[in-house]
Amino acid sequence: MSKYDVAVIGSGPGGYVAAIRCAQLGMKTAIIEKYSTLGGTCLNVGCIPSKALLDSSHHYEDAVKHFEEHGIELPGEVKVNLEKMMERKSSVVSQTCDGVKFLMDKNKIDVLEGVGSFKDKTHINIKNSDGETETIEAKKSIIATGSKPANLPFIDLDKERIITSTEALKLKEIPKHMIVIGGGVIGLELGQVYRRLGAEVSVIEFMDRIIPTMDSALSKELRKVLKKQGVKFYTKTKVKSVSREGDEIIVKADDKKDKEVEFKGDYCLVSVGRKPFTDGLNADAAGVKVDDKGRIEVNEQLQTSVDNIYAIGDVVKGAMLAHKAEEEGSFVAEIMAGQKPHINYNLIPSVVYTWPEVAGVGKTEEQLKEEGVKYKEGKFPMRALGRSRASGDIDGMVKILADEETDEILGVHMIGARTADLIAEAVTAMEFRASAEDIARISHAHPTYAEAVKEAALAATDNRALHV
Ligand SMILES: Cc1cc2nc3c(=O)[nH]c(=O)nc-3n(C[C@H](O)[C@H](O)[C@H](O)COP(=O)(O)OP(=O)(O)OC[C@H]3O[C@@H](n4cnc5c(N)ncnc54)[C@H](O)[C@@H]3O)c2cc1C
Repeated sequence: MSKYDVAVIGSGPGGYVAAIRCAQLGMKTAIIEKYSTLGGTCLNVGCIPSKALLDSSHHYEDAVKHFEEHGIELPGEVKVNLEKMMERKSSVVSQTCDGVKFLMDKNKIDVLEGVGSFKDKTHINIKNSDGETETIEAKKSIIATGSKPANLPFIDLDKERIITSTEALKLKEIPKHMIVIGGGVIGLELGQVYRRLGAEVSVIEFMDRIIPTMDSALSKELRKVLKKQGVKFYTKTKVKSVSREGDEIIVKADDKKDKEVEFKGDYCLVSVGRKPFTDGLNADAAGVKVDDKGRIEVNEQLQTSVDNIYAIGDVVKGAMLAHKAEEEGSFVAEIMAGQKPHINYNLIPSVVYTWPEVAGVGKTEEQLKEEGVKYKEGKFPMRALGRSRASGDIDGMVKILADEETDEILGVHMIGARTADLIAEAVTAMEFRASAEDIARISHAHPTYAEAVKEAALAATDNRALHV
């Protein structure tokens, strides 16, 4: 029987990063993955394919709508070749997954293919697709089994026309009318992909605003911009049934006035969140406890109810984000090695990769109000930047919230071109507990979108933004 210092179950961004860090720290490590490709949800059916399709559809939209104003004339009609677009996406995915395999080999991590299930707290059975089972011994284990799409109890997902994000990433035709249930990150990103490709898109959201966990100024601006792009929104609308008649999907809901409304389309994307995944893990056999939401219970050290077993990523509490899973992967490896790592959960950024991109970190204005914290605000519109005018990306703004007395930055919320990248400056500044004035006094290259961060900081400092 093979023996390891650490066995990692699941090869998503949590699991594979944990495995690399364990190997770097000198532990003999195995990673167990039930699928033949490594990388988990993020690489196979999440972050990477969705971004590939967002980029491709963005190029198409630019060609159709914006090339002309830049003085670019195309010889004929611009057409979408969906099959080719999907092929490119698949090739981006496979290159990225192969990259993870390369990293496993480079770090001498054994990759074991099959479903990992606990036999007891130090033994794991791995059953491959041929039905063969191998048992390994591991002094310590890390559960990184991730999540699966959530559903509403009354919806029968046929995975053909009533679909989750997984199927939406590989459609064979452009929907005529895609009904998106859930105005969160995944629904909006995939909704924007198909809207750009020509579909009518209707987003139904139960809450009173889209991306409800982010700062409300971002929800408002994103809704305005996506509306201009043709996406229709129905907030405060509660879906109560989804049915299929032939190729037609009928969604019934109660609107904000409690009146029944009906939507008819050819596809319905159910994007109502994700749920932790522990099927087949046999956590009970090791004594690992699961909470009432199906998540593996962990303490502050990400240790489960069993002392030699840890859990990370989407399968534990907290934001379901790849970079949160990665941080936790490194964290547990370092804990196991006797180090004292640290994760600041308040500073895990949230990002939506629509265009304009949306990003936020720290406290939202709603949270500060609720907590009774006295704060000041500095805002700067993207349209006032030379860089934005040059590219034509004038939508959006940066908003900085700082402590009224100390000027410490408490939250940064932005929407606009490349804000998914710009948010890193805010995270770095906040990790070092910078004040708004600190950012205001730092030189930012001109012309860049990043100047909006400096200007918002100037505005927060004492209302002295320069370019508005
Ligand atoms: C469409 C979409 C877009 C997304 N975009 C982003 C984004 O842009 N940015 C971002 O930060 N996050 C994004 N996410 C979320 C992100 O994918 C997840 O937060 C992340 O993948 C979680 O990582 P993880 O390692 O915890 O689990 P996962 O990535 O879910 O990996 C878990 C792995 O464990 C394997 N596994 C499960 N059980 C077993 C078992 N018993 N034995 C062996 N293997 C097992 C699974 O097969 C899987 O490969 C997106 C998600 C979706 C669906």
